[in-house]
Amino acid sequence: MSKKKKALITGISGQDGAYLARLLIKKGYNVIGGIRYDTRLKPWRLEELGVHNKIKLIPFELLDEKKINQVIKKEKFNEIYNLAAQSFVDKSFLNPVYTNNVNALGVMRILESIRNFSKKTKFYQASSSEMFGNVKSKYFDEKTSFQPISPYAVSKLNAHWMINLYRDAYGLFCCSGILFNHESPLRSDEYVSKKIISELIKIKHKKSKNLILGNIYAERDWGYADDYVEAMWKMLQQKKPEDYVISSGMINSVKTFINKASNYLGFDLKWTGSGLNEKGIDSATDRVIIKIDKKFFRPIDIQYKHGKSDKAKKNLNWKPKTNFDNLVKLICDAELKKYK
Ligand code: GDP
Repeated sequence: MSKKKKALITGISGQDGAYLARLLIKKGYNVIGGIRYDTRLKPWRLEELGVHNKIKLIPFELLDEKKINQVIKKEKFNEIYNLAAQSFVDKSFLNPVYTNNVNALGVMRILESIRNFSKKTKFYQASSSEMFGNVKSKYFDEKTSFQPISPYAVSKLNAHWMINLYRDAYGLFCCSGILFNHESPLRSDEYVSKKIISELIKIKHKKSKNLILGNIYAERDWGYADDYVEAMWKMLQQKKPEDYVISSGMINSVKTFINKASNYLGFDLKWTGSGLNEKGIDSATDRVIIKIDKKFFRPIDIQYKHGKSDKAKKNLNWKPKTNFDNLVKLICDAELKKYK
């Protein structure tokens, strides 16, 4: 009998951590999940996917070098997926030092530990499309240059280059997945996708009066998280470690997202006004259900382009299974279930 592979997922309590844990368990891995020291919350996402009893959770902080070394030296994981991060772009403007300490130096701590104590461990780093920032290009792929415009993006880019360096200089098997926005019912309400859907459903059930947003003309390339974690796993199963762009290839605005979701939820939405005075009106009741507020605008928001995942398609045989319309519907359906 072949021995079970052992994987560590840092940030296992997040959206991607939960989907990846489920995938690895299905594939017969022994999954160990890293959680923050101060976590008091139940791992509700793991419960939701029914995998909480199949995983061993261990305290694991990207700031704690000693602990990282201890764990990696002892466990000699086959694979480590680093999904832990300070992952909010807007919060990175408020806490730039902390963001870099976790997102950039945290990755270095793990890489150093692998280099010193467990050279055969394969390492996946969650990079981000935010790293492209405002670079002028028709689309973003692995050859596009980077022009990060938030402390979050700078920290992720630092880690991304470290992955390249440790691969070239020390021959470590490490890959960086440049993932575009990926959403799911397990997203937290801070992200615009989930905020829109959960607020619209609250309005529908008279539990909220309106949905207040920032820049609704911002555009994103949105995909489904469950599709994207498969690409993470595939990267570590290749002969050669490389970096990959993972995206849907389609771009949509926040306003299109609102229109799709409200339509699916049975609202007949009319838009009036412009700028901060733009409003979304529910035709059935004639009430304003969507408003714009300055406080949800970012200091700078990137001019997004769509990602091009041709390399992933060719080398990993990966492509997204869920399109934008189905993504919006599946998040709506999951959220609606909570009211049944
Ligand atoms: P991000 O791409 O990782 O920052 O994902 P988000 O879901 O947080 O934001 C996606 C886009 O939605 C950004 O361009 C935001 O400026 C825009 N947006 C507009 N209104 C809001 C809002 O109320 N909350 C959030 N989170 N984003 C908003």
